[in-house]
Amino acid sequence: MPKSIFTPSQTIKLRKLHIATVFDLLLHLPTRYQNKTKIESIKNIVPGTRVQIEGVIKQSTVNYRPRKNLIVIIADESDSIQLRFINFYPSQIKDLSEGKKIRVFGEVKKNLFLNEMIHPQYKVLNADDPLPQTFSPIYPTTSGLSQKLLCKLIKKSIDKSIEAKAYIDYFPELYLKRKLPLLMDAIEAIHFPSKDSDIDLFDRKDNFYHHRLIYDELLAQQLFLRGLYHQKKLHLAMPIQFYDQLHHTFIENLEFKLTEEQETVLQDIYSDLKNNHPMNRLLQGDVGSGKTVVAVMAAIQVIKSGYQVAFMAPTEILAEQHFSKIKEWLEPLGFRVDLLRGSMSPSNKKIAQKKIMDGESDIIIGTHALFQEEVIFKNLAFYIIDEQHRFGVEQRIRLRKNNLINKKFEAHQLMMSATPIPRTLSMSYFSDMDISVINKLPPGRQIITTKLFSEERRKDILEIINKEVIGGSQVYWVCPLIEESETLQLETAENTYMVLNKYFKHHEVGLIHGRMKSSEKEMVMERFKNKEIKILVATTVIEVGVDVPNATLMIIENAERMGLSQLHQLRGRIGRGTKKSVCIMLYQKKLSIIAKQRLRTIYENIDGFKISEEDLKIRGPGEFLGLKQSGVPMLRVADIQKDSALLELAKQDADHLIKSKHPSINLHVERWLRNYQEIIRA
Ligand code: ADP
Ligand code: MG
Repeated sequence: MPKSIFTPSQTIKLRKLHIATVFDLLLHLPTRYQNKTKIESIKNIVPGTRVQIEGVIKQSTVNYRPRKNLIVIIADESDSIQLRFINFYPSQIKDLSEGKKIRVFGEVKKNLFLNEMIHPQYKVLNADDPLPQTFSPIYPTTSGLSQKLLCKLIKKSIDKSIEAKAYIDYFPELYLKRKLPLLMDAIEAIHFPSKDSDIDLFDRKDNFYHHRLIYDELLAQQLFLRGLYHQKKLHLAMPIQFYDQLHHTFIENLEFKLTEEQETVLQDIYSDLKNNHPMNRLLQGDVGSGKTVVAVMAAIQVIKSGYQVAFMAPTEILAEQHFSKIKEWLEPLGFRVDLLRGSMSPSNKKIAQKKIMDGESDIIIGTHALFQEEVIFKNLAFYIIDEQHRFGVEQRIRLRKNNLINKKFEAHQLMMSATPIPRTLSMSYFSDMDISVINKLPPGRQIITTKLFSEERRKDILEIINKEVIGGSQVYWVCPLIEESETLQLETAENTYMVLNKYFKHHEVGLIHGRMKSSEKEMVMERFKNKEIKILVATTVIEVGVDVPNATLMIIENAERMGLSQLHQLRGRIGRGTKKSVCIMLYQKKLSIIAKQRLRTIYENIDGFKISEEDLKIRGPGEFLGLKQSGVPMLRVADIQKDSALLELAKQDADHLIKSKHPSINLHVERWLRNYQEIIRA
């Protein structure tokens, strides 16, 4: 389809609406409609509604007091009404002179004596001016691009596309089966619904025609992601044996009993590992649901089978913590556990790298440093990525491609996410992976009480802290991430530290933040774990994964600035032991509506899945998943929350089409997903 149907200046304005192609324009859907298909008699109109009327101008006057006004009275057979224009051109005075017949559309307002319309749309009628046969679309637009012009461009594009048969239906048998209309019929009907349509259903995008577009878009998304999924299943991986004895020994030595959910997820993972195709699984579970142990139990099977395992953590603190926990679990079994991280000295790094290359390390825990080109494993068969959203896709691809065993066997991958992803989202955006969910916490966890304190109650907090520490517990005081300035954040944390340090003469106060050297951070965490430090002032570096069960009180400053999942993650640092825990969220007054909504949600909910769903509602999928930056195509028409039924169908159908190797799959994906060739998923 030639782009030349737009003039250069139109092209620039359309760009602002993210319209680059004719198909984009066809998908620029009306947000609502006006009904100009009928004429209401003036007697029957109701104030507060938008109507179309016709009448003859009985009187037309320009008033200058109290303000300049053009007042026009029109009448039909039934009654009369007043039209008022505050801004008008001389030409309009001429247009609206007595005796002319006009058609008017606008909102009716109740005036003292007469109903009136202010600045209605109007049209001077000629002898033959038929009424439109369709509803009139109202589009999202931008300055300099009028509704009228946009509508004209769209109409022209529809007509030309139909004439040129530019958008044929790739899967006619499927649309028939799903009882959906043809693509161009749907597009035409959505832009210009016929006058007997139920327009409410169009406003809600819940009708036969919208369904076709929604389904089509979801089908494209699923064809793309399920295509990747099936493609990855063709790759080769080392099948891992299951050692029953080892499994039981590990469980016997464990300080707790696995929950049923953990057991189920383990079975998923074991059965993936047995395959000679790579596992590609996302393990979701709320904060504290016990994902680590599950991953480690899978890891020992891999090691026992004679291969290496990599365990990636997003921060050094977390890597350190996993390292000491895993060492505790695995060294008694004779496995060699090592740590590799960015901040190591070059010589220590070299030593670690050599051990990895020579196969002297069985499981390597690391930060981003593990993804570096120089790190080559002897025989990596399994990698675990904790907090997957913090790693780039390219990194994972590099790790995998760099470490094929015998140049052809890929490592199995297990990704873990502590931000529970609502089901609809994981079904759509993550359908290139298998998914397991742990949605219950281990038993015996204490409920965390959340309290919201406004700034003014700051002083009360000191006494609350004092009681807690005297009772033998420990406290986190979290200072917010200040996006604009890391220095400012540091300042807040340092000030808080000084204030608390001065106030609590008998309790040790510690400080930890992102600018510290990792050895310093470690020392502070170590002293906090050992209960030497009672009160830890921290920036959000402690957000993920930190596990100190004796900490039972958390103060979060400027909670109104933080996102829901961050607040949930932070709060998940307490309530890990057997003692009751309290989280106090301090907020500045003058909350924005969204901040209020967030605080209410976090106050009312403790379940991460519920919180995620609310978060998704507040932020939308793009922001929620951080996909805007990642290049994964966002949906334009479909709303996965509302359209989950169509999503299920699209997923099923995509799998069928892929299995039958339908020749039009790529065409369909290309039509719907922008830049899809550039999108990478690992
Ligand atoms: P997350 O899923 O957030 O990564 P972790 O794996 O860090 O959670 O587990 C949180 C805490 O719960 C750890 O101290 C872990 O040892 C403990 N834990 C894990 N599974 C169980 C269980 N079945 N019963 C009791 N405690 C458990
Ligand atoms: Mg974790």
